[in-house]
Parts: sequence; structure tokens; C-alpha cells
Amino acid sequence: KSYIAQIEKVDDKIGAYLYINKEAVKQAEALDTKRKNGEKLGRLAGMPMALKDNMCTVDMPTTCASKMMQGYMSPFDAEVVKRLKGEDAIMLGKVNLDEFAMGGSTENSYYKITTNPHDISRVPGGSSGGSAASVVSHQALVALGSDTGGSIRQPASFCGAVGIKPTYGSVSRSGLVAFASSLDQIGPIARNVEDAALTLEVLIGHDAKDSTSVKFEKPSYETEIKKDIKGMKIALPREFFEQGVQSDVKESILKAAEKFEKLGAIVEDVKIKNLDYALSAYYIISSAEASSNLARFDSIQYGYRTDEYASLEELYKKSRQEGFGKEVKRRILLGTYALSSGFYDAYYKKALKVRTLIKQSYDEIFKDYDMILSPVAPTTAYKIGEKRTDPVEAYMGDIYTVPVNIAGLPALSMNCGFDKEELPVGMQLIGSTFSEDTLLRAAYNYE
Ligand code: GLN
Repeated sequence: KSYIAQIEKVDDKIGAYLYINKEAVKQAEALDTKRKNGEKLGRLAGMPMALKDNMCTVDMPTTCASKMMQGYMSPFDAEVVKRLKGEDAIMLGKVNLDEFAMGGSTENSYYKITTNPHDISRVPGGSSGGSAASVVSHQALVALGSDTGGSIRQPASFCGAVGIKPTYGSVSRSGLVAFASSLDQIGPIARNVEDAALTLEVLIGHDAKDSTSVKFEKPSYETEIKKDIKGMKIALPREFFEQGVQSDVKESILKAAEKFEKLGAIVEDVKIKNLDYALSAYYIISSAEASSNLARFDSIQYGYRTDEYASLEELYKKSRQEGFGKEVKRRILLGTYALSSGFYDAYYKKALKVRTLIKQSYDEIFKDYDMILSPVAPTTAYKIGEKRTDPVEAYMGDIYTVPVNIAGLPALSMNCGFDKEELPVGMQLIGSTFSEDTLLRAAYNYE
């Protein structure tokens, strides 16, 4: 009830929710009755959560913040939603994002702007901006986000929350509306490391419905994260954030490095090869996959349909023209171009080669180090509208997050300070595949 009251009180200003679950209180009360009757409840019993609106739900619309999917009702729950409900979490509603998760500010939503709870003239980051903003403004205890190139970590950083992008293949993508299938991963955004760890533990694990889901032994983060970090080896790719980064972001990261040293970790400067090419490779690969994934919105199987058309071709064209926003169209064009014969070798194939090189570069680092410490983004939250005119400038903001998705690694984002304007600065901890426990342990000790 208190969370619903908070939504009513502050969401006019924050604009996080696209849909509120009217049954939430009733569902919580039913749980409480069960509890009073001595029935055993799940591990997330009563935890009020928000879902990024690109995760399918049977009882609430799933819009991807697109006109294309306005009012769309899925016939099934995403696997992650099933798992949360299975542990008795309460779904408060669906939250805003950049249309189809394309963007880093949540300004690309067809429906509304979400603001940063620290300063409502600024963006909350994105694309999971609604998830981060709802959690930080106490409108949800934990929210799920999805991360294709930084969309959990960057809004967590801009809003001062904890966000984890898990190892590719560890959380099922079944029921997540696909942006770039080889990069997408779902993960939690929370106010502290423990909540994030608990939620992640429920989310992870093999699912036969996702062909890229990996079978692995489920760890128990609860005990693992409380161990100390003495002797942990942290790599600091200092030269990677020497230039083009806001000075107080850099300072906060270096201070965090000192704090890790005080906690007993060993921090050393490293050079990670090939990262300069990551951003270009990411925008080729992700757009290529998006152009293919979004081909399904033909207005016939599902999605927005235009009113008037004279032929089937015109139906496709007009529906897609009217249903997709500008940024989504840009990616479809870019991806289709990169995949077209004549350009495929020059762009897409080359990007895949870069992907392999980046993966190898990380592998080399993880031979000697437990994790890498870096900024999440070159800047703190910027003003609404500031980067809307120049897409390339917006893409540059993803420089520190996209290499991680390209290599399929886990990474955690958490607050490590504030800039001169009292805006949160985030640090990123990157680990080798399936080392979420190490990242969470370092984060828990740091907190
Ligand atoms: N900002 C990046 C992009 O626009 C990342 C988005 C994401 O992770 N979903 O592609």
C-alpha cells in the first residue's frame, strides 16, 4: 500500500510507470492471509517490483514504449516474470524505456519522458530509465531492466542505484521482446547490493525455452557476498578513461580504487586491447540484429495497423512508418544496410571479427585479475533534450558499457560518489563469465 501511495504521490513528476497493476494490493493481502495461515511463502514474498515494459506479462499490456505495441497483451508471462511470481514477489506495474530499448535516456519513449529523481530537469539514463527512476524514488523496491549495451548499468549509474547485467545466457530471454538477441540480458536494479543479489539469484538458471540459456550450477550469493575481498586483484584500465570523461567521474573512480585497496584488494593499471573498436562494432551488430528482429512487426500477426491501405505492401509500409519512432527506424536502416549484400563483408563480418578480438582481450586480463574497475558512463545525468539532436553524440555515451555485452561478460554498476552538482557517479565492476558472485562480493564490501 505504501508503494502504491508513493506512486500516486510522486509519479506525476517522475513519469516512471506506463501501467500500474490494480491488483497489487489484493495480491499482497492474499499473500498475507497465506502467511497468517502458516503457509510457506517464496523467497521474495511481498517484495514490490516493477518490470521494464519490454518483458511480456499476461495480466498487463507490454508496449516496449512503442506505438507499434500499444495495448498489446501477451498470451504468456516472460520466464523472469514467472520466476519472480513463483517466489511470491508482487508486480506493481510496467515501467518506461526508450522505444524497444534503443537509447540511453528514456527520451525515445512514445508515451512519456521519465525524469531523474535527483534532478527532474535531467534524464534518468536508459534505456531502463523507468526501472532505475522507480527504484530510486521508492516507487518499487526492485525493478527488472534489460541490458543490450548498457541499459541496466547506465540508468543505475545516473540515478544512483545498483544494477547488474548478468553473464550472457544466465538469465532466460524467453518473453523479453528482442532488440539484439546475441547481446540482450535481463537483470535487476535495486537500492542496495543485497536486494540485487537476492533478485538475481531467483532470475538465473537454465531455461529450455531460450536456446542460448546455459546450464550451470546455481550459486548462493547470500553467503558468498559477505566474504571479504583481501587479495582480490582489480584491473584499472586508466588510459581508457583518461580522455573524454567528465573530471569528477574520473576522480570518483580513482577514489573508489583507493577504497578497494583499503579493503584489502590489489589494484593495478592495465591496458585492454581493441576496446577502441567496441562502439562501432556494437552499433553494427546490434542494429543488424534489431533490423531482423523487428521485421516481425508486420501489423498482421500483431502490432499497430494503419487505417487505410490499398495493397498488402502498402499495409506493411504504412503501419511500420506510423508505428515505429525515429530512433527505431534509424537502427532498422543502419542494420539493413550493414547486412545487405555488397556491404555485409565490410561491416557486419568485420564487426564479428572485432567481437572475437574484444573477447580475447578480456580473456587475457582475466588470466591475472578478478575484475576490472571502470566508469559506467563518461558523464553524469545530462539535461532532458541536451543530446536529442545528435545521435552519434548519444552513442558515444555507451563507450564503457558496450564492450561488456560484446564479450557476454557480467558487470555491475553502483554509486561511487557525486559530481559538483550532487548528481550520482557510477562505477562499473566487470568480471569473467559467471563471476557474478565476485562482483557482488566486491560491491557488498564497498557499500
Ligand atoms: N544505449 C545503447 C543503445 O542505444 C544501449 C541500449 C540497451 O542496452 N538496450 O543501443
